[in-house]
Amino acid sequence: MQTVYRFEIKPTYQQQMIMFQTLKLCRNLYNWALSERQRVYKETGQGLSYNKQQNLLPAYVKEHPEYKEVHSQVLQDVLRRLDYAHKRFFEKKAGYPRFKNRDHYNSFTYPQVDTVRKTFAKSGYIYLSKIGFVKMIVHREFEPQKVSRANVKYHGGKWYANLTAEISAPPAVGGVNSNGKSVGIDVGLEYFAVLSDGTFIETSKHYRKAERKLAKLQRRLSRKKKGSNNRGKAKKEVAKLHAKVANQRKDFLHKASLTIVKNYDIIVMEDLRIKNMAKNRHLAKSIHDAGWGQFGGYIRYKAERHGKVHVKVNPNSTSQECLCGAHVPKDLSIRIHRCPVCGLVEPRDLVSAKLIERMGLSLLAA
Ligand SMILES: [Zn+2]
Repeated sequence: MQTVYRFEIKPTYQQQMIMFQTLKLCRNLYNWALSERQRVYKETGQGLSYNKQQNLLPAYVKEHPEYKEVHSQVLQDVLRRLDYAHKRFFEKKAGYPRFKNRDHYNSFTYPQVDTVRKTFAKSGYIYLSKIGFVKMIVHREFEPQKVSRANVKYHGGKWYANLTAEISAPPAVGGVNSNGKSVGIDVGLEYFAVLSDGTFIETSKHYRKAERKLAKLQRRLSRKKKGSNNRGKAKKEVAKLHAKVANQRKDFLHKASLTIVKNYDIIVMEDLRIKNMAKNRHLAKSIHDAGWGQFGGYIRYKAERHGKVHVKVNPNSTSQECLCGAHVPKDLSIRIHRCPVCGLVEPRDLVSAKLIERMGLSLLAA
């Protein structure tokens, strides 16, 4: 089974310049390859396959010597990406591939890391051919020798390495179905989580009640005089309820995550560490901010244990886009997504969940 590790990388200024140039060249190649496909189709009525385009690549590079600065496999991957976009279109899973501008082309991929023995030779670094050893923040364990491809992405002013690894799947635990079903999960404010198949998961009522009570006790505690008997008592009470709420939260999260892991084989979530929730001022005090991170962690380790695939995607555009590809901006107060382009009207979290699923699947297939 496959998993994707995502690590932030810290290129030097010099390396960044090369990386931005690589992005630009890859994007130009993508757009050129797309226009070639369109031209050939117009002239002959025939499609241009990935293989044919790949055969044209050396001549293209010869004509544009700046491409010598990009690893050849990275360039091949650009063509593969375009081919995949076309396949999705023909399978009616996506719109017709578009020309990419700078904002919509923000990653490049080394598709065969394992042949490059050097990739993880230096601890704390990733070796990117033509770029060099780039510092990598390894915040969780991973097995370098299992990484098969590396995707380098620029997002929100930072660079990331998305490493696809083949990890051995433990035998499925009893009762766990293997059905190839995929799901996208959007965590939100209205519901704890919304699944792409239309399942809405609510936070348990007990938990909410306990949480409100805790907030009340905490307020009362803050009014008590320091050093007083009453304050000591109130403090104990708060601590007790705190533990209770934490337990209830854990219990709820365990149940919710286990249900999901049992029912789906490929589970796609947003990277919650970078999901921007600060827009809502009530949120900081909500259970959610504590709950989501934990939820993501539970899903991940349960998925690994049950031999399921867990993919994290970038939360950047998942709330502002339509399934048709149109940009549909909406602030948090707007709960219903209405697309002026394709006419889709659905709860916004559901649309997000579907987008998340789609992004995860394309990440796995790319
Ligand atoms: Zn639409």
